[in-house]
Amino acid sequence: MDNSEKLLNYFSLLKQRDLTGTSYLFIGNNFDLVRKIIKLANCRDDKKFYCDSCFDCRKFDEGSHPDLFLIEPKSLNITIENIRESRQFIRLRSFSANKKVIIIKEAEELGEAAANAFLKTLEEPPKNSFIAICAEKIDSLLPTVVSRCRKVFLPSNDNIADDSKVSLARRFLSGEIPDFKERAEFSSFIWTLAVVLRDKLVSGTDRNNRLLKEEHYEIIQRDFKLNTSNCIDALREIFEIYTASATINEKLALNIIKEKLL
Ligand SMILES: [Zn+2]
Repeated sequence: MDNSEKLLNYFSLLKQRDLTGTSYLFIGNNFDLVRKIIKLANCRDDKKFYCDSCFDCRKFDEGSHPDLFLIEPKSLNITIENIRESRQFIRLRSFSANKKVIIIKEAEELGEAAANAFLKTLEEPPKNSFIAICAEKIDSLLPTVVSRCRKVFLPSNDNIADDSKVSLARRFLSGEIPDFKERAEFSSFIWTLAVVLRDKLVSGTDRNNRLLKEEHYEIIQRDFKLNTSNCIDALREIFEIYTASATINEKLALNIIKEKLL
């Protein structure tokens, strides 16, 4: 099972137990996988994940489902009015889908006013809503938006970073402290580390489904012998360090990460 399949499996477990949340922040560059998760949440066929042939699957694939409200800040000029429309939309009865779906693509492009207007929708969405906020990086979003969503780090679509960077990140995770000649190398190392860790963490489920009930971080540890909450803390820390990587003391930063992880 690859990481994408593990993530679908995880959402499938949530669906079976009626534990699917209402507001999700999908971090990473893999919109195709987000679309599959939405199909899975709505398909009524009991095939594995989704059937691809029912009305809901087909319409969500085409992006033309009557229960879908798509917000694309990059290609359209999003106004506060559009955001208000989405708020009304989510309260309407659904046409055929299990869930009324709002997708915000490239959420980092949503201006502050629009993001703030959207907070009202995030505060109390009706139970049958599925709000998918998609962004490449977490640090470009308003903290008030981030804190209201369950966060899912998507496994990467393509092979990020070259092998030497990935192997350096893996060596760090097994205890080696690297040296950097340049600031840019350090910053790129931090980013690779975040991606490697994220891909290791994403999806799957632990024995007692503890994380299925976890409110805020739906990330599950797989390969590393690390405790999940440590990993989550460390990942949060790594993103903060990445943001400050132009000025932060390298050795100090690496030690902070290490302390969180090991
Ligand atoms: Zn279907």
